[in-house]
Amino acid sequence: MQDLIVQKYGGSSVANVERIKRVAGRIIETKEKGKKVVVVVSAMGDTTDELIDLAMKLNANPPSREMDMLLATGEQVSISLLAIAIQAKGHDVVSLTGAQCGIITSSVHKKARINDIQTYRIEKELAAGKIVIVAGFQGVDENRDITTLGRGGSDTSAVALAASLKAELCEIYTDVDGVYTADPRVVEEASKIDEISYQEVLEMASTGAKVLHPRSVEMAEKFKVPLVVRSSYNYNEGTIIKEEVKMEKVLVRGISLDENIAKISIFEVPDQPGIAFRLFSALAKSNIHVDMIVQNVNRTAVNDISFTIDVDELQEAVSVAQKFAFEVNAQKVEYDQGVAKLSVIGTGIVANAEIASKFFEALFELGINIQTISTSEIKISCLIDKERGKEAMVHIHKKFDM
Ligand code: ADP
Ligand code: ASP
Ligand code: MG
Repeated sequence: MQDLIVQKYGGSSVANVERIKRVAGRIIETKEKGKKVVVVVSAMGDTTDELIDLAMKLNANPPSREMDMLLATGEQVSISLLAIAIQAKGHDVVSLTGAQCGIITSSVHKKARINDIQTYRIEKELAAGKIVIVAGFQGVDENRDITTLGRGGSDTSAVALAASLKAELCEIYTDVDGVYTADPRVVEEASKIDEISYQEVLEMASTGAKVLHPRSVEMAEKFKVPLVVRSSYNYNEGTIIKEEVKMEKVLVRGISLDENIAKISIFEVPDQPGIAFRLFSALAKSNIHVDMIVQNVNRTAVNDISFTIDVDELQEAVSVAQKFAFEVNAQKVEYDQGVAKLSVIGTGIVANAEIASKFFEALFELGINIQTISTSEIKISCLIDKERGKEAMVHIHKKFDM
């Protein structure tokens, strides 16, 4: 759609009345430039965390369907308040929940995927000249049950809408000026990246840089959505994310740290064909995403298998692992929440042996033990002690002179 801009405002940008007013003003500025505007908003401030805490006080293992019902209310509060603020400034506006604007998802609660967006309602409102405010992070499945897209999922709502409506631009407004070489709240010297490729930012997002939801970047790349990350607090130019980015001899683009992971180890698993298949297909059936995998070869008839998962899925993953261990007669299952994954990201990293050695040297200089290493074309990751994660990130950022 010509002249259409999709803007997404994160939780901190709408955390209180003053900020909601400011965001309302910013949306109106865009509208007054002659653009059609669709806005996606997250829940105010820490609302989502607070709702989760409430549920956990009632039930240590709350049903996923009810969690989605609960968490989706956070975004419903912010869309209505933002619409009320915009209306107060004299502009036509309508707020819509995920269901109302036809965001149809899979039925996997707490991590649903968008399958389709039936855009006619949004198109009708835009045609009537209204600003459309959409609740991020939520949709409905084919039974009309409310679903959510995983923590940070409002970014994905925004990109999906931009793709379906063929917007000219999708702007992600947040509390930092753009994508940095490392989390600017941890690494003081981190610098803002002016332009970055979808692939590089996808690796950063998938390895813990929470500035963008990984799925949103995947979708932006797939549908070639022009994406910008910028601050809602100022007018600084943000980070442009696109297909090709000119290389200025920089190999390492960014460093990220994922502290939201856990390691599960299964000891003395019989050394037989089909064992890994059995374990990882059971995890896949439970929709548990497995990241790093190591199998220690014991030179006996048994091996130890370790893997990392998202900490939110720990309970479920441990129960799958325990069931598997019992069935194959493994010795025991242990888990460890005291781990973090530190990654260096950049196109061509793996082809350059010096980068890995510098990364490992930096960890050695701090006396940090590497538990697991994994690599891809554009990334090297190490699993380390969580307590030393931030310190390691700061040191490596210096070492690579970013
Ligand atoms: P929002 O509520 O706007 O979605 P998030 O908290 O999800 O905001 O994401 C923004 C935060 O991401 C920043 O405050 C910053 O601390 C963190 N972050 C982590 N890694 C990076 C990075 N490489 N560049 C920018 N921000 C990062
Ligand atoms: N409110 C949701 C969360 O806190 C979604 C989002 O902010 O993107 O995870
Ligand atoms: Mg976010």
